[in-house]
Formats: sequence, structure tokens, C-alpha cells
Amino acid sequence: MLEPEPFRIKMIEPLTRLSREERKKKIESIGYNVFKLEAKDVFIDMLTDSGMSAMSDQQWGKMFTTEQAYAGGSSYRLLEKTISDIFGFQRFVPVHQGRASENILFSLTVKEGDYVPNNMHFDTTHANVKHKGGTPVNLVVDEAYEPGKPGDFKGNMDISKLKKFIEEKGKENIPVIMLTITNNTAGGQPVSMKNIKEVSELANEHDIPFFLDACRFAENAFFIKTKEKGYADRSVRDIVKEMFSYADGFTFSAKKDGLTNIGGLLGVKDEKLHKKCVELGIIIEGFPTYGGMACRELAAIAQGVRESTRFEYLKYRHQQVKYLGDLLHKAGVPIARPVGGHAVFIDGKEFLPHIPQVQFPAQSLTAELYIEGGVRGVELGTSAFGETDEEGNVLPALLEFMRLAIPRRVYTLNQLNFVAECVTSLHEKRDDIMGLERIYAPKLLGHFMAEFRPL
Ligand SMILES: *Cc1c(COP(=O)(O)O)cnc(C)c1O
Repeated sequence: MLEPEPFRIKMIEPLTRLSREERKKKIESIGYNVFKLEAKDVFIDMLTDSGMSAMSDQQWGKMFTTEQAYAGGSSYRLLEKTISDIFGFQRFVPVHQGRASENILFSLTVKEGDYVPNNMHFDTTHANVKHKGGTPVNLVVDEAYEPGKPGDFKGNMDISKLKKFIEEKGKENIPVIMLTITNNTAGGQPVSMKNIKEVSELANEHDIPFFLDACRFAENAFFIKTKEKGYADRSVRDIVKEMFSYADGFTFSAKKDGLTNIGGLLGVKDEKLHKKCVELGIIIEGFPTYGGMACRELAAIAQGVRESTRFEYLKYRHQQVKYLGDLLHKAGVPIARPVGGHAVFIDGKEFLPHIPQVQFPAQSLTAELYIEGGVRGVELGTSAFGETDEEGNVLPALLEFMRLAIPRRVYTLNQLNFVAECVTSLHEKRDDIMGLERIYAPKLLGHFMAEFRPL
């Protein structure tokens, strides 16, 4: 049986749906790239889960009832108490979003020629390591690259790869080891407690600081509770505490499991490093009692982190993602399985086997889904990750996905039913879907601005 939502709706944002003809014209006019759509022209927006959460009455309330102040606002105290209660961390720096915490951390730790291992870097951590002259390295377990293969913790770090890597490169060239929970780039796949502990022990053995990229820490804790042996009877809060107890620090985007629309955190146990983070934070983000936000946002993060660690909420959250995944799987749509924490990934290569990857099947699918029902997903395939050779030819990416990310506490099951119907109806007429030619793409993070035309 489906569990009823553990909340009710108190405020709504009306949606309008353009006609198919209008949608067709819109997407043509912007070069078949959904990043360039106006949000008002989108019926159901599954571009990302980041910053898209519906905030609770408590979150909005605390934003109104804490004072607006440059220094010493009580929203900071609320946040301090939450970080201590939930994460067990006494020292942190608030920042305006996750990548700012990465910027501060890597500015103070990474130097030219260093390596930063991770199970898998998210694109902003990848870019921030590179920006400081370091090399980001992905040492995830091999199953992560096999989207159809079952497995409970396909986001794990491969411990033997990590061991070998430390021996090869030397601990003096590895300023920090990261672990991303859940593993966003691998489809939101979880990391087990056992794995977190093993990475931590290995890092300790070599005196290398160990940091969590903790954007989806609560969803990861849910998977540990429901899948890992020995955790079924432990509370989510207890599991979260244990996860963070193994880390020397964490980077965090509150736009995910913080249930806010903006914000981030950098947690640091070491007193000296924390002091440096505060000092650099003041230069690039602002005084620590507001951290690059209006200080009221800190109160929303403090409350959001408490709400996202409630089991009832997490059950509802996972049920939604699984519900959409199951509907599509039952209809024969090729998806990555098991579904991860925040999205359903549709395999563009299998969905459209007649379109070669150099003709961007997942991009084409994303454009067609918008035309079909006004649903906006995102391409994570050759447009986002494919390189080009010296002559400018497109090289296929390893994976070819269209992602449907599910914003937290936003859509109803009827809306998910509608999305599944649109995808299924496209699947039935998949032979008619054509590939695309890319006519423009900037060199870095080109998929945001790329333009295409139908072949
Ligand atoms: C979103 C995200 C980030 C970056 O956070 P922003 O708030 O977008 O800057 C870093 N790591 C992971 C795993 C993420 O999902």
C-alpha cells in the first residue's frame, strides 16, 4: 500500500499547460535545449531537485520570527544547535550554496599537482578541485557503471582502488579524501555505513583528512536504515550521527536535503582549519552569522535539516521516486535500477537504439518529452559529458541518460502518473523519434547553452 503524505498543502503555485503546438514552437525557437525554456512554459519541472523543495510552515515561520541582523542573529544560534544536535559538529561555516563550501575547502587544502579521490565527484567539486590545480579522481565501485545491475550500495568507494591509489601517489599528494553521499553522479546511489567507516579508517591510517560531500545525507541514511544489516532498528538521527562521526569535515548544499531554496555549509572538526575557513569565508561569502545569505535563510536551513531527518518524511520521499521508477519499469521503459535517492534515470541508448550517440539520443528524448507533455527533464549524456576531438567531432559519453529529478514535497502522485504516461507514450512511438545535430556549444559546461537542430 502507498503511504499517505505526512503533510498537507497550505499554499499552491498554479500551473498552466501550453498546447502541443505551442510547446513545439517554443522548443524549436530555443534550439531544443530545455535549459532555455521559461519556467512558466513548463508544466511539470523535473530539471533538478536542487533548490526546488517546498518549505514548511515552520521554515517560513522561523524566517519571519528571527531578527534580520548582520552579526549575531538568533538564526545563527538555531543553526549552530541543529548542526551540533544532528551532525555532532561544533564548528562550521555557513555559505550561500554547496560549491562555495568546496571553494573554501579546496582553496585552503589543494595545491598544484595534488589529487583528490572521491567515489564520484559531482561536477562542481570536480571543477573546484581543478580550479585549484588539483586532479579529481573517481574511485567508485565498478557496478556504478552498470545501470541495470541490481545492488544495494552501488555508490560505494572501491576500497582496494583507494588503497592502491594512496600507495601510488603518496599521502603527501592527497590533501583530502572525499566521499559523496548519496552518489549523485552515479544516479543518487547510496553509500553503506560500512563503506563510510572503511574510507575513514584508511584516511586515518594515512593521516589524510576525510570529508563527506553530504548534500543528500538524509536520503543516504534512509537507505542505510532500510537496506544495511544491523540498522533497521536504529533511528535516522542516530544513523546520521554515526555517518558524520567518521568524518573530519563535510561540504553541504542545503538546496537538497536541507529542504531550502538556497544555502550551504562547510563543517570542519579541526580548530585551526576551521579558523582559516572562517577567515576566507568572510572575504568571499560574508560574516559567518549570515554566510552569503540573508541571515533568515539560516533559520530555514536549521529547521529543514531537522525535518529531512524524520523517518516519516524520508519514507514518503523514497516512495515517490520508487513509484515513478516502478511505473516506468513495468511499462518496459529502460531505467537505471535500483532507483536512487532523488531521481529516475532513463537510459537514452536503450530507449532510442536507432539513434547513434553522436546524434544525442538523450537530448532528443528530453526535447520530445517537453513537446509530449510539457515535462522538463535534463540530459546527462553526450551533450553534458561527451568530449570533442581536435577536429571538433563529438565523442560519445560513457552513459547516456535523461534524468527526471523529483523536487521534495512538491508534486503529487497524480502528477507523477502523468509524467509516466508521457514517457510511456513516447516509448510506444520511439521509432519516430529522430536524432539531433549540435550547432553550438561553449567549451566549458557547454550543455547549459548548447543549441541543436533536428536531423
Ligand atoms: C548540488 C551538489 C553540489 C553543489 O551544490 P550547489 O548548492 O549546487 O552549489 C555538490 N555536490 C553534490 C553531490 C551535489 O549534488
